[in-house]
Amino acid sequence: MVTTPRLILILGDQLTQTVAALKAADKARDVVVMAEVADEASYVQHHPKKIALIFAAMRKFAARLREAGWDVRYTELDDTENSGSIPGELLRRAGETGAQRVIATEPGEWRLIGLLNDLPLPVTLLEDDRFIASHKEFDAWAKGRKALRMEYFYREMRRKTGLLMDGDQPTGGQWNYDHDNRKPAPGDIDADGPPRFTPDPVTEEVLDLVEARFGNSFGTLRPFWFGTDAEQAQQALDAFVTHALPRFGDYQDAMLAGHRFLYHSVISVYLNIGLLDPLDICRAVEDAYRRGHAPLNAAEGFIRQIIGWREYVRGIYFLEGPDYPSRNALGQSRDLPAAYWGAPTDMACLSAAVEQTRDEAYAHHIQRLMVTGNFALLAGVDPGQVHDWYLRVYADAFEWVEAPNTVGMSQFADGGIIASKPYVSSGAYIDRMSDYCKTCAYSVKQKTGQGACPFNLLYWHFLVRHRDRFDGNPRMGNMYRTWERMDAARRDTVLKDAEAFLAKLDAGQRV
Ligand SMILES: Cc1cc2nc3c(=O)[nH]c(=O)nc-3n(C[C@H](O)[C@H](O)[C@H](O)COP(=O)(O)OP(=O)(O)OC[C@H]3O[C@@H](n4cnc5c(N)ncnc54)[C@H](O)[C@@H]3O)c2cc1C
Ligand code: SF4
Repeated sequence: MVTTPRLILILGDQLTQTVAALKAADKARDVVVMAEVADEASYVQHHPKKIALIFAAMRKFAARLREAGWDVRYTELDDTENSGSIPGELLRRAGETGAQRVIATEPGEWRLIGLLNDLPLPVTLLEDDRFIASHKEFDAWAKGRKALRMEYFYREMRRKTGLLMDGDQPTGGQWNYDHDNRKPAPGDIDADGPPRFTPDPVTEEVLDLVEARFGNSFGTLRPFWFGTDAEQAQQALDAFVTHALPRFGDYQDAMLAGHRFLYHSVISVYLNIGLLDPLDICRAVEDAYRRGHAPLNAAEGFIRQIIGWREYVRGIYFLEGPDYPSRNALGQSRDLPAAYWGAPTDMACLSAAVEQTRDEAYAHHIQRLMVTGNFALLAGVDPGQVHDWYLRVYADAFEWVEAPNTVGMSQFADGGIIASKPYVSSGAYIDRMSDYCKTCAYSVKQKTGQGACPFNLLYWHFLVRHRDRFDGNPRMGNMYRTWERMDAARRDTVLKDAEAFLAKLDAGQRV
């Protein structure tokens, strides 16, 4: 019996042997399609390290599939017949093989889902089951709730997975140990950061390609040290569990100028493209706790990031629909300052976060939230431009996870679906959690006048600007009361100084 082949689409962030489309495929009949296409590599100008990571990992994954007996049609970026888009490549491969149907795992971005749905071929989109909560489960959890708070969703995920559960009770008696996880950076950092892998010939070839085609984009390509296959990703996870996990919880929110990674795992780059599995990661971390290698606040804090935050933001992205990334609840409209693209700035914290982002395509959560995110929000930057920046510059950035974090958690542009109040702070928070202020040209202690920390000025400016919206927020009442207690002349000076700072920003002057 002759059976027509079907095209099995594998995208660059679906590099998992058990991804839904592969599970549904028939090796004897179907053709796997993988493609490096200009549209995907350039619809936003990604960091060169991010493109290199994805292309190198794709090439190695395709080789694995071939070894396992799959017919893989792989398009390299420079292939003369490359049509430049995913739909174009699917149609070309359909013509070549006679396939009349496509099977794909649902992409993590509305834009791509739309492109596949518009294809003039029947497409079966299978739910991506590499996540712990299905769309149906998340929607059922969200239905009828006034507020979609992560904490309650997280408890559901603990119950569902059995992670850190003793019977039906959370291990240790509490669901969340976050109050133990806010220590400032310690003096004695004993972690060396993630393992750095020497590029193999496949990766080297990709690096040359990326340098030639995307070398002018923001970001340093070499030295390139990411792992590019499942074994290397596993080594990175093992190294984290052994060396960094025990202190992960305590110093999760800390920042140090000389330590770009502190006790963070740096595994999102692997997890988000499918080289690691979220449940496997969490089991390894729970196991470290059960055998006494890591304390409970570290294991719980880490597991919460994966089965709590990661799953929750994905649920919100799909629940809220395609317009979510373009929301702008606060109506902010300033252009993203040039300092985000590496223009010199006197702000030591911003400079460090951007410099490390340029070099590593990585910054940890508190740098993203409380330095670059906080500053953009306080300064009134258009959240669409902030979203575009985060999507471009981080190697782990895919819209399903980046947009809710940026638009929702960091910029409050979804009007408070994710965050119950905006993540804003004056310089005092950064001073407490980092050593940046020690070398800064600005003074964090100074609240007004020449040399006052810009976060101090803009913090009040933000609150006053958005008073109508936030005055009634019970979590923000204290801030407004503090403002009211200041004498009128001082309030006036703060606002005038903030305006002067913003005018410099708008004029493109160094700040
Ligand atoms: C403005 C902003 C943008 C962000 N953009 C992205 C993004 O594009 N991609 C991305 O994966 N994460 C994003 N995050 C979340 C978080 O900053 C990164 O997941 C984390 O820094 C990755 O580094 P790590 O692997 O060392 O994480 P660790 O601190 O070691 O945490 C462990 C893991 O938990 C998961 N995790 C932790 N926090 C979150 C979160 N808020 N949302 C989802 N997963 C989380 C990640 O998979 C991470 O690898 C963003 C956060 C903010 C504030
Ligand atoms: S003084 Fe202000 S601008 Fe400078 S590092 Fe501290 S928080 Fe950042």
